[in-house]
Amino acid sequence: MVRSGLEREVMYEGIPASPGIAIGPVHVVARGFSAPEVYEIEDSEVEHERERFQDALEHTKKQLVDIQSRLDDLSGDGESGIFEAHVMMLEDKALTNRVIAMIGDRLQNAEYAFYAVMQNFLEAMRRIPDPYLRERTADIEDVAQRVLRNFSPEEGHQGPDEQHVLLAYDLAPSDTATMNRRHVLGFATELGSVNSHTAILARAFGVPAVVGLNGGVVIDVKALVPAIVDGYTGKLILNPTEETLERYRKLHDEKLRLKGLLDAKRDVATATIDGRELTVSANIELVDELPLVKRSGAKGVGLYRTEYLLLKGEDMPEEEKQTEIYTRVVKEMAPYGAIIRTLDAGGDKLPVEPLTEAEPNPFLGWRGIRVSLARPAMFREQMRAILRASAHGKVAVMFPMISGLSEVWRCKEMVRRCMDELHKEGIPFDEKMPVGIMIEVPAAALCADVMAPEVDFFSIGTNDLIQYTVAADRVNSHVAALYRPTHPAVIRLIKMTIDAAADHGIWTGICGEMAGDIRLTPLLIGLGVEELSVGPQQVSKVGQAIRSMSYAECAAMSDEALIRNRSGAILELSMEIAKKRYGELLD
Ligand code: PEP
Ligand code: MG
Repeated sequence: MVRSGLEREVMYEGIPASPGIAIGPVHVVARGFSAPEVYEIEDSEVEHERERFQDALEHTKKQLVDIQSRLDDLSGDGESGIFEAHVMMLEDKALTNRVIAMIGDRLQNAEYAFYAVMQNFLEAMRRIPDPYLRERTADIEDVAQRVLRNFSPEEGHQGPDEQHVLLAYDLAPSDTATMNRRHVLGFATELGSVNSHTAILARAFGVPAVVGLNGGVVIDVKALVPAIVDGYTGKLILNPTEETLERYRKLHDEKLRLKGLLDAKRDVATATIDGRELTVSANIELVDELPLVKRSGAKGVGLYRTEYLLLKGEDMPEEEKQTEIYTRVVKEMAPYGAIIRTLDAGGDKLPVEPLTEAEPNPFLGWRGIRVSLARPAMFREQMRAILRASAHGKVAVMFPMISGLSEVWRCKEMVRRCMDELHKEGIPFDEKMPVGIMIEVPAAALCADVMAPEVDFFSIGTNDLIQYTVAADRVNSHVAALYRPTHPAVIRLIKMTIDAAADHGIWTGICGEMAGDIRLTPLLIGLGVEELSVGPQQVSKVGQAIRSMSYAECAAMSDEALIRNRSGAILELSMEIAKKRYGELLD
């Protein structure tokens, strides 16, 4: 990486979202519309770039005037005024002069300079309290995009086709799931939180990430500056000094060495020193994570988030296609099993037709099992596909966002109906396929004793259970400090769930992100959980944590934790064991 030499090292602090170190040039994606390619130019090319900018402007103005006159011909009553305003914007000298100056100052291509100036301008507009003016940002984005399209594409530049560190205002889970993982070394975002699906995916893929960066970084940063993403402590460092780079390279090598040691133990049983065996399985979103899962030593898939089948913005695939996909998961996981969760769209995840418009409170709205129950045809197809896959290996089904008994009954009714149909059609399936529910709504945890006789297992979705218990949106960085996994209320709900399950002879697992946080493994084991389903990258660490402790010490500590009244005190208790038994694994 070439350092500009002139610029100072700057550090921004955020929330560590996915461990690891990424070192590379920054590619910036602000909000509103996507960034064009960025590349460096020579002094001698500055004039040429300025001309390209003027040409793109002129071309755009002509297009706008053309649209305006066609509209006038059609309606004749001045509705084309908006386009006149757009043309005036492109003639605004303050704006165009800044782009012209920036091309020379930054020595970067014209479209990128234009993009950076427009983003600054838009950001300022978004801060204006006047709602009318704020709404005009959409118009300006529109014109800006039009100008960007009117630059001729260039070849042979450095930019997102190269390996880089992505710095974005925000990334949707679909952006993260589809990002080119060969090119994106790591990413940092202004928005976001540890338990958003964007962060979960980053951890699954092993892409270092920092979210919730403070203070408008995206707008200030010059594209292509050298950067480090420190996903362990949540830092983005721009223009690192040679000393900083060296320190991070060493850290990276040391972590790789540790990972190698852990991977070597992946076939050793995950039992505590005093012989309590736990299952460590993996969460997946996409079928292409299966090789990672198999390499990790996971004993099966503990959560398959099937809503990621909606990734391409299409409807749920039909029964045949789903059967094929689930069968592939099941066969690849043999001799272990796969727990397939029915569609959990909505919230911060992928929208499901026809509900594509914004909901006022998406997390309290139409998501998870509510969608499936309201769309019985879609639900039936998914259920039949899961059952058909169960003929090829160990499969269990589980339902997300259960908040009451009647939902459980309706889900079971769907399972029965599909079993009957397949039976009549002579299509094989596992008649004893286990049926479980996610405990992720406090109502379900509080009524776990009522739910337990109805199902074969519980899987606690702590990501949602925490957000609903402490009423703090899991993706909102402004309330991230309130989102505390060890809040006494959360710990009590987990304990109630595990106890209710044990009373009825069923097992409880945890598939939320808490399960993969090795600071909390002593607490979760002590509370009596039997399965931990974690991101593929966390499997080996969690396994080693389990092998390093005794169940007896964890149980005694968790009894103590249950009577503590502060989240910090509970975390400390768990950390005491973690540090003592496997301190070298903690980041
Ligand atoms: C959870 O809520 O903890 C969970 C595992 O489900 P998701 O993160 O997909 O909502
Ligand atoms: Mg959930």
